[in-house]
Amino acid sequence: MLDANELESRETTTYGMMRRQAEPGTVYLVGAGPGDPDLITVRGLDLLGVADVVVYDRLIHPALLERSHPAAERIYVGKESGDHTCSQEEINHILIDQARLGRSVVRLKGGDPFVYGRGGEECLALAAAGIPFHVVPGITSSISAPSAAGIPVTHRGVSSSFTVVTGHSCRRGEDPDWTALARAGTLIVLMGLRRLPAITEQLIASGMDPSTPAAVVASATTRDQTTVVGDLRTIGIRSRRLDPPATVIIGEVVSLRPWIAWFDEQPSSEFDLFGHHHPVRALAS
Ligand code: SAH
Repeated sequence: MLDANELESRETTTYGMMRRQAEPGTVYLVGAGPGDPDLITVRGLDLLGVADVVVYDRLIHPALLERSHPAAERIYVGKESGDHTCSQEEINHILIDQARLGRSVVRLKGGDPFVYGRGGEECLALAAAGIPFHVVPGITSSISAPSAAGIPVTHRGVSSSFTVVTGHSCRRGEDPDWTALARAGTLIVLMGLRRLPAITEQLIASGMDPSTPAAVVASATTRDQTTVVGDLRTIGIRSRRLDPPATVIIGEVVSLRPWIAWFDEQPSSEFDLFGHHHPVRALAS
């Protein structure tokens, strides 16, 4: 429970002014987080609870939908790779039409709306139609899937940067600059599970050390979370039985997992699987 002072200070923030109300005729693009329904923001949950309409994707947890207003209309639009129930254009039309009916609309999207979520396209369509909109950020799987597997995307002395790429658009002529990526810090690949063997081959051909540690985390933050670890040479084969959604992490930070894997298993206090000393203990000794 918030005490009166705390409540008052919240009321004076942008957040406080926005909560408990969703403007009629307005679209709220809300990030739902990576999977666990608890990982939505407070603002996102507030808006979900009051909106007249909820337009949602395939990966949205049913428990989150249950948090929408009992009288709200729920519109499923699919929209994940391999499941294109509605085209992007149809989705844009639904948002515009619902807003024009004077309803408050929550557009609930997996992770963060602007990370491979086509949230930008929806905003452009809404802007062109003169519909007011807000964006409520979400916890992106590109960072939270690694963290749920005990892999920090940056770590002092190990990696000072991370790059997020899509494995999906890696068609001929559209390939990312693998040579540059092979030299980047931690590499995080979304939508890359099926093409992982081709992606790792490209990275090795572009000069990345084949023994670079790599991991795949599927269904992160849910009770189906599964993590597979290997190196650039082996990860494609080792992850072939996993199902999407899955996030790939490539880089030395993956080697910290045995000590930090808080979600999948009890972290090790002394040695990792290969008998290596705990990094902090090794530093101290
Ligand atoms: N906007 C989303 C990403 C959409 S692209 C976000 O910010 O997270 C969809 C991709 O996200 C999937 O192919 C997968 O690579 C990743 N992803 C989404 N949910 C995931 C989960 N629970 N575990 C692992 N990866 C996930």
